[in-house]
Amino acid sequence: LSSHDPDSAIRLTDADAALARLSAVQKGYLQDSFIKSLVPRSHLQPPRPPLINIGTFVRATAIDELVFQWLQTSANHGKRCQIVSLGAGSDTRFWRIATSAHKDALAAYIEMDFPEITTKKAMAIKKSKEMSAVLGNSVAAHGGMGLSSGKYHLLPVDLRLPPQDSIDKLLTAESGPILSPSLPTLLLFECVLVYMTPAASSAVLRWFCDYISADGGILGCIVYEMFRLQDNFGRVMVENLRARNVSLPGAAPYPDMASLPNRFLGIGFTAAHALTLKEIRKSYIGPSELQRIAQLELVDELEELDLVLEHYAITWGIYASQSTLVADWES
Ligand code: SAM
Repeated sequence: LSSHDPDSAIRLTDADAALARLSAVQKGYLQDSFIKSLVPRSHLQPPRPPLINIGTFVRATAIDELVFQWLQTSANHGKRCQIVSLGAGSDTRFWRIATSAHKDALAAYIEMDFPEITTKKAMAIKKSKEMSAVLGNSVAAHGGMGLSSGKYHLLPVDLRLPPQDSIDKLLTAESGPILSPSLPTLLLFECVLVYMTPAASSAVLRWFCDYISADGGILGCIVYEMFRLQDNFGRVMVENLRARNVSLPGAAPYPDMASLPNRFLGIGFTAAHALTLKEIRKSYIGPSELQRIAQLELVDELEELDLVLEHYAITWGIYASQSTLVADWES
């Protein structure tokens, strides 16, 4: 790794996430026909260990469910909604929604990541017949570092920059804003906030709250990340990443469950909840799905599985400028 570019180690975590997803798909845990187009030499990639596959399955199933509920609630209100994925990396969610029964509920899908990642993703999308076919006509944007097509926008940005100088310029161009302040908007931060200081991530969240509340809108947010990094197992997770030169300025402030929703409540969100992947696997994945995945691979280390899963959590929150809206969207 180049010692001149400390962010190259952070960007490499995208390859990890994409390989984990590819492995879970190849082993039959998840269905996603698009991920192979975003992983170079996908057919030669070795599978990840069963514990990683199960973790990827639980995380993806839970986030998919929250996202589809958001789309459904928007449709129930007779509205289309927007989704903004920050640090989207090689995520394929736009293509999965665009080929699902929920596609008409989507007004816009915006992905942001470092320019190096968005440039690579724009090229891979153009090269993939399957992804291009879903997208329709697309145009290169931001000097080839981005892509725009109908509802989909891929935007290059360093999320640590002050929002007024970065996301604001990308999303609200006077020539035609990409993000509407009046539509229900869902933010996704999957494995991203840990790479930013809490001050930088709060600034991003606040920018979205202010933008949406100017027009009486509603904002939802889903965060997936590791936490409890102060205990023995958590320290090993951090050491493994630090050994690869990945710095984690956002790791410290979330030592326990209560601290997770407080991230949202502290900056004015109306409601927030959190669950660990361990709780989600035990209580929220249906018995038939659990039975199906139990047959895919032999897992000896069930205690270790719980230990891994209790160090990852999904937090979701709602910010509403009109309190009457909250109950409906929160549920
Ligand atoms: N969200 C994707 C997923 O779950 O599959 C990718 C997760 S990957 C672990 C973290 C992503 O966040 C990488 O693509 C990385 O480039 C991006 N990222 C981290 N810090 C960022 C920043 N300051 N600005 C933009 N992107 C960032």
